[in-house]
Amino acid sequence: MVKRTRRLYEGKAKVVYETDDPNKLILFFKDSATAFDGAKKAELKGKGTLNNTISSLIFEMLNSRGIRTHFIKRLSDNEMLVWRAKRFPVEVVVRNIAAGSVVKRLGFKEGDVFKKPLVELFYKNDELHDPLICEEHVRLMNLAPVETLPLMKETALKVNRILGEFFSEHYIKLVDFKLEFGLLPDGELAIVDEISPDSMRLWDAKTGEKLDKDRFRFDLGDLLEGYRKVLNRISE
Ligand code: C5P
Repeated sequence: MVKRTRRLYEGKAKVVYETDDPNKLILFFKDSATAFDGAKKAELKGKGTLNNTISSLIFEMLNSRGIRTHFIKRLSDNEMLVWRAKRFPVEVVVRNIAAGSVVKRLGFKEGDVFKKPLVELFYKNDELHDPLICEEHVRLMNLAPVETLPLMKETALKVNRILGEFFSEHYIKLVDFKLEFGLLPDGELAIVDEISPDSMRLWDAKTGEKLDKDRFRFDLGDLLEGYRKVLNRISE
């Protein structure tokens, strides 16, 4: 049994702990909900467990489909055991339907369906508010090893196909999602962080009801109720 040792880092939604194995970390999913760079905050009891459970289910599925992720196993309601990774400060967003920042930036209408998935890169930097960047910036600023860029994109699109099919089987539309990448102790590229309704937009395929963090961002209804609906559907 791996033991939690030192607290390494506390983020908005998770705490990262070192363990007695130098190659493994424990992620503790908090009950905090934040939006707009932390300007909007709330404590929602049970959110951490929901995100850990949903993320674990998704990572397990991706691992079983040959996609490398940092996920090892779910340890408890709020804890996940992961491989230690050298994370890149880059967010890879894949969009199937227009929503969120792409609507604001480029004038799409929310709900516009893209002919093919759109991949965007963002610089993960709170002070700069995670600006949109392109591959040239990644190279210039050395944000990730250049040779990993094509594989990151390819993996993101593969994950989009796998998750898109998976959610559609459960009558949910995968609107968009964000992935983060890093290098595992063996030097392999892998998906890190979490994949949960905090980092995806998910709409009910029949009613269009938003089941993700937009409920919290825009006061559209009880956040936890949306996340519970997602979990109930995907664990059916
Ligand atoms: O805000 P935007 O429309 O660019 O977000 C695209 C997708 O990436 C959404 O699913 C959002 O929840 C996710 N995202 C995230 N973390 C960020 C920015 C966006 O999980 N820092």
